Amino acid sequence: MLVILSEAKNLQILHCVQDDTDMLANAKRIVIKIGSSLIINEHNLVRESWLASLAADILALKHQCKQVIIVTSGAVALGREVLGYGYGTHKYELELEEKQAAAACGQIRLFSHWKEALRFGTETLYPAQILLTADDSINRRRYLNARNTLNTLLENEHIVPVINENDTVATEELRFGDNDRLAARVAQMAGADLLILFSDIDGLYAADPRINPQAEFKTEIADITPQIEAMAGGAGSAIGSGGMATKIAAAKIALSAGCHMIIARGTGEHPLRTLQDGGRHTRFIAKESPLSARKHWIAGSIHPAGSVTVDDGAAKALKSGKSLLPAGVTAIEGNFDRGDAVLIRDGGGKVLGKGLISYASTDAARIKGRKSQEIEQILGFKRRDVLIHRDDMVLE
Ligand code: GLU
Repeated sequence: MLVILSEAKNLQILHCVQDDTDMLANAKRIVIKIGSSLIINEHNLVRESWLASLAADILALKHQCKQVIIVTSGAVALGREVLGYGYGTHKYELELEEKQAAAACGQIRLFSHWKEALRFGTETLYPAQILLTADDSINRRRYLNARNTLNTLLENEHIVPVINENDTVATEELRFGDNDRLAARVAQMAGADLLILFSDIDGLYAADPRINPQAEFKTEIADITPQIEAMAGGAGSAIGSGGMATKIAAAKIALSAGCHMIIARGTGEHPLRTLQDGGRHTRFIAKESPLSARKHWIAGSIHPAGSVTVDDGAAKALKSGKSLLPAGVTAIEGNFDRGDAVLIRDGGGKVLGKGLISYASTDAARIKGRKSQEIEQILGFKRRDVLIHRDDMVLE
């Protein structure tokens, strides 16, 4: 991976041109979920030409200045063949241990197909493999870690994070089991503004269209009401494990994170181009941006673990929209970890706001009142120049 990264660093700037006419025009960071039934055929082989067409679409999005994250299924399906587990007409339900073993064998095959697909004559995109468990989206430190890694990877425009669930180590109790919800968690973690779930169904219907061909197609959903949830039946496809129910669960996660979501059929070649050309889909509209959803979450749901006191200059800077630098901090109270929420107080003790802090209390105490350039020298490492970034802060 390091070799690939350093190789990518030396590449020339990828030329991208912003175009405001297509339907994905406003999205800057897009998570695209690819279901097993798209990437794998009935003989348990990768659909090479389809994958090449999707990769070409991804490159086109990169040329439109978008950041793209892929969540791909297919490891278990590809691993079945290696281990001699039945597939095609001999397919049978695998035990958890068998799924885990199949995922271990299949993931490497899956990733190598992605790597090949993202190599285009003169231009090359580099996939960066990330395997996540549900715990990575629940445990705060691990969540922050994964989030930082994603952000760092996305700073390089040639990198495409390619994510799957770490099925090999995920335990039954702590397992997504479907990549729809995993993709929504990834979208939340990455602060993405659009999540696209490509599957073998073109969107949400008021009833199961296989049973009722007249079922009404839903083009736009603004609220996930109990009626909408009732429309989502069980799993539908023969290969993947996501059905409409997991897609609705994904929509709830995405929308609460300020991320729009699209469900579209991805089985045909060039699924993204098809979508951009107006292909049929259901869109779920988020009511706020990822940033304001994050700020609401900071304001509402996390309990402060301590507080920082700032001087008058810093208090003024915060009000004008600046981040909090260590130089403006006069005192640290409480015992907190990196990523915890803390209150921000002025010299008189008045609460000015709340934010997620970039350094643990012991480290914050050592760098308070000091210049950001000194952080590395004092601590022996530096995470960020700021103690609390303005995107991680809400003021009273
Ligand atoms: N993580 C599973 C795999 O790679 C797929 C889960 C799903 O089908 O959504 O096989």
